[in-house]
Amino acid sequence: MNKDIFRAYDIRGVAETDLTEKVVVDIGKALGSIIIDQEDNEIIVGRDSRLSSPKLFSYLTQGITSTGVNVIDIGIVPTPVLYFATHKLNSSNGVVITGSHNPKNYNGFKIVINKKTLSEEGINKILNLVLEKEFPKGEGKIYQEEILNYYTDQITNDIELKSNLNIAIDCGNGAASIIAKQIYEKLGCNVTSLFDELDGNFPNHHPDPSKEENMRDLTNAVLDKNLDLGIAFDGDADRLGIVTKKGSIIDADIQMLAFSKEILNRNQGSKIVFDVKCSKLLSEGIEKLGGIPLINPTGHSLIKRRLLEEEALLGGEMSGHIFFNDRWPGFDDAIYAGARMLEIVSEAENKDLLDNLPKSCSTPEINIPVGDKEKFGIVKEFKKRMDFKEAKIIDIDGVRVEFKSGWGLLRPSNTSPVLVLRFEANSEDELKVIKEKFRKILYSINPNLGEF
Ligand SMILES: [Zn+2]
Repeated sequence: MNKDIFRAYDIRGVAETDLTEKVVVDIGKALGSIIIDQEDNEIIVGRDSRLSSPKLFSYLTQGITSTGVNVIDIGIVPTPVLYFATHKLNSSNGVVITGSHNPKNYNGFKIVINKKTLSEEGINKILNLVLEKEFPKGEGKIYQEEILNYYTDQITNDIELKSNLNIAIDCGNGAASIIAKQIYEKLGCNVTSLFDELDGNFPNHHPDPSKEENMRDLTNAVLDKNLDLGIAFDGDADRLGIVTKKGSIIDADIQMLAFSKEILNRNQGSKIVFDVKCSKLLSEGIEKLGGIPLINPTGHSLIKRRLLEEEALLGGEMSGHIFFNDRWPGFDDAIYAGARMLEIVSEAENKDLLDNLPKSCSTPEINIPVGDKEKFGIVKEFKKRMDFKEAKIIDIDGVRVEFKSGWGLLRPSNTSPVLVLRFEANSEDELKVIKEKFRKILYSINPNLGEF
């Protein structure tokens, strides 16, 4: 068994090669044990539309039911609908079979036990159970349950648009295809819908809105038809992409600034959680608007946990996961977040609102391939060698060095064998200076690192 499939925030690997029948049945058995330990006997199982998902569903549920735990099958759903189900159905445990935004041969599991998304310790527990192979025995059953109508009603009851909007959405042939268009139409929008047929081959573009090339079709649709907004989803619809009326892509940290403004208007002094990759404009903006910014390590399950611990009203990360804990139960949901953005745009006197959000000089996320083993050592060595007396150091996840003129970030990725970097500054020149400071140290550690 390839143990690397047990990741920091979920279980993920190549279907068939890593996620073999044997391994997946055992993961199901481990989940069953954990649920029995909690004196519970049910788990909700959903899946995305990847080609390997039906097979993985059969292996996983075979494992779960062999422990005596029952499965509530909610069919093909976006990941947020699985989270929603753990709040609304009888069981507060759930697992969704999804490869999210990863290449099409990948698949994986996002797991919720007792309404909490599993992170490192929880995932490790599953690994240990799979290695020990001592599972309870029983005969669980599989039930089907319908959840999509319930989910649609909840969103359409919560969101009220002040005006009818003309929008485009891009489902990337992923799980959002089955429900996003219907929900936005019910809210009163005219929806131009791109790539909304489920297709695990993703024939049009890859379902990852954090990459600019995947936003091209949506941007063109918004500009060609002179629409009010464009909304994109990743493969399992827990990450959001936004295109403005003028065709600009709004990064998740700046989307959060717009959401923060709306929330803090009604809830002065509330907390907002975001990851170390986010712009300084976000933390400064939250403070100016009367909120409390809380910076956090990257990882959707870590952001969610902190959000609930701190009773923050909004959480999010640069990758596009946005969590509303305000009128919504605090999980990352791009369909709901998209609807909240529609609400903001519909209420604005000036429809250019999103184009008028502040901008800074920043790089996108930069990834340098180094290997899974090397990445931690390089970051550790960087911390040892760096000597930034004038700067504020945030070392909760890699190292973020905040100078007066901007900041630089270096962290080991938790999901792939790369170093992650990002830079932001008040001007292009200052950005270059900060980048150079990082370059100098990194190349002194390893002169063969790729260009950045
Ligand atoms: Zn996703």
